[in-house]
Amino acid sequence: MHAEIPGVALFGGTFDPIHYGHLRMAIEVRESFGLPRLFLVPAARPPHKKPRAPVTPAEHRLAMARAAVAGIDGLEVLDMELRRDGPSYSLLTVREAREANPGAEVLFLVGADAFSEIATWHRFEELLDACDFLLLPRPGTSPESAFPPGVRLELEENRCYSLPGRTYRLPGGRKVLCPDLPALDISSRSIRDKVRRGRSIRGLVPPEVELYIAVQGLYRGEERG
Ligand code: ATP
Repeated sequence: MHAEIPGVALFGGTFDPIHYGHLRMAIEVRESFGLPRLFLVPAARPPHKKPRAPVTPAEHRLAMARAAVAGIDGLEVLDMELRRDGPSYSLLTVREAREANPGAEVLFLVGADAFSEIATWHRFEELLDACDFLLLPRPGTSPESAFPPGVRLELEENRCYSLPGRTYRLPGGRKVLCPDLPALDISSRSIRDKVRRGRSIRGLVPPEVELYIAVQGLYRGEERG
C-alpha cells in the first residue's frame, strides 16, 4: 500500500450496466495507490454517449452499481450527478467533489478510449486543469495512443508513483497517470448484446447485477446506436 495520492478518486461512467471490468480496475487502483475510498459516479444524463439516445434509467444503473460494490472494501457509489439537473458534465462533478473536500485534489479515473475523446467534453480545457487523471487500459488502446490530438503531454517519469507505468504532465501542470494494469476485455455494450441474444452474462457482472437485470427485464429491447 502506498499512501502517496491524497485526495478524492472519482470513477465516472454510464455503468449501463456496471461490470467486472469497472470493478477490477477500481479495486486495482484503490489498493495499488492506497486510497481509503474510491467513488463510482454514475452519470444521470451522459452527454457524450453516441448517439445521444436514451440509456437505461438512472435509478436502475444506480441500483446495479450499489449492489455491485456492496461488500467491496473502499468502493462507494455517489449519486451526485443524479441529484443535479442538466447533463452530467464531469467538470461540474469534479468541482463539486473539490468543494466538498476542501484542500483535496481530485483524481479522475477514465478509460483510455474515453480520454481519447476528451476534447469533445464540456469545457474540456477547464476539466484538464481541474484534476489529475488516471488512464485505464482498454483492449487495443494504449494509454499513449489515447492522448487527445492537440493536447501536449510531457513525460515526467517512467513510473506512476511507486507503480510500473508512466506519469505525464499536462500544460496546466495536472498529472496524467498511466499505470501498467492489464486490460480487461469487458464492455457494457457486449453485456447488453448478450442479454438481448439470450446469452449468459455469468462471470462478466456480479451475481447481484445479473439477477437485477433478469428481474427488471433490462436490455431486452433494441440496442441504441
Ligand atoms: P459501453 O460499452 O456502453 O460504451 P463501457 O463498458 O465503456 O460502456 P462506461 O460506463 O461507459 O462502460 O465506462 C465508464 C468508464 O469506465 C469509461 O471511462 C470507460 O472507458 C471505462 N471502462 C469501461 N469498461 C472498462 C474496462 N473493461 N476496463 C477499463 N476501463 C473500462
